[in-house]
Amino acid sequence: MVDLAGRTALPGFVMVHEHLYYPTGPGVYGQLGESFVRLYLAGGVTTMRTGGNMNGFMDFKLKRLIDSGQRAGPAIDATAPYLNGPNNFDQLHDLKGPDDARKQVAYWADEGATSFKAYMNIRRDELGAAVEEAHKRGLKVTGHLCSVTYAEAADLGIDNLEHGFTASTDFVTDKQPDVCPGQGSGQKTIAALDENGAPFKALVKKLLDHHVALTSTLTVFETFTPGRPEPPGLDVLLPQLKEEFLARYARTQANKESAYIKLFPKDLALERAFAKAGGLLIAGTDPTGGGGVIPGYSNQRQLELLVEAGFTPLEAITIGTLNGAKYLGREAKIGTIAVGKQADLMIVAGDPSANIADVRKVELVFKQGVGFDPAKLIESVKGKVGLW
Ligand SMILES: [Zn+2]
Repeated sequence: MVDLAGRTALPGFVMVHEHLYYPTGPGVYGQLGESFVRLYLAGGVTTMRTGGNMNGFMDFKLKRLIDSGQRAGPAIDATAPYLNGPNNFDQLHDLKGPDDARKQVAYWADEGATSFKAYMNIRRDELGAAVEEAHKRGLKVTGHLCSVTYAEAADLGIDNLEHGFTASTDFVTDKQPDVCPGQGSGQKTIAALDENGAPFKALVKKLLDHHVALTSTLTVFETFTPGRPEPPGLDVLLPQLKEEFLARYARTQANKESAYIKLFPKDLALERAFAKAGGLLIAGTDPTGGGGVIPGYSNQRQLELLVEAGFTPLEAITIGTLNGAKYLGREAKIGTIAVGKQADLMIVAGDPSANIADVRKVELVFKQGVGFDPAKLIESVKGKVGLW
């Protein structure tokens, strides 16, 4: 028996655009699984999907170690290395066509991947083949797209689209099929889009008709947008990484021409319109970009940003818990607090249903009934996130 006067019990977060890597240098992604799983758990995340993998086997191995109780961390829906066409990432494969896409999905599924992520340069035939192979195995495919439009991906059977509407190239008038016109070109059209206009409504209808979920990753975009507060949790970073991020943060503040000044509030409005129309909006944080998105802290921040987008605190909490569970097909076990469900809980001081910022005050996290002390988890990695 625990006296929880003045506190609130919430279901643990179920967040779906997480990573076990972090940008540590130009085009270099450090594999920080060891520290990240502790930070996610400390922040109240009890289930997460990695939204793309830059390493190969680590996501699957950590998933198994956590499942067997040998590591502290959230349950992981582990995503395979990205499915991408020819690209400039040293750590990513270049797909060689639809047969290769099928082969990659089959290989990584056999190695333990439980979901897949298509990336910016994939071709339609490759995406179609990957979706077919994944679905044959009962697995889902999401995408951070560019070369393929959201509408085309919906027709090809994709299950989920990442980053709200900011990766949509559906409205680029001179777009060539299978070619990414540059994320900036798409974003220019999105920033100018009317959430009440017919073109946007037609795209939303298409996504709803095909049961495509949409992931909100406002936390990563906030770090690109001038005039926003410093993100929480920077103190856990290795001092050099913290310094680098703060220098970048200062440059972002000074950039009065940034496309995100318009794009960020617009994406909030578009995501809200998608959810209002009946779409399944799910949440993640995406600790990549230019850094500064810190696991655990960012998951709490993501809910604050959903409230800023116009959701009530309870709706935001539902997006970060039950909606994620529904997407993963695990809502019978997780995502709400109910008799018969798994004891994945977080205890926070205050009442986040009245004041969403109270989600930052996590005092205890239970995963499958086992309690963890967030302060101790954070202390164990403080100042070292960047090394491991
Ligand atoms: Zn990502």
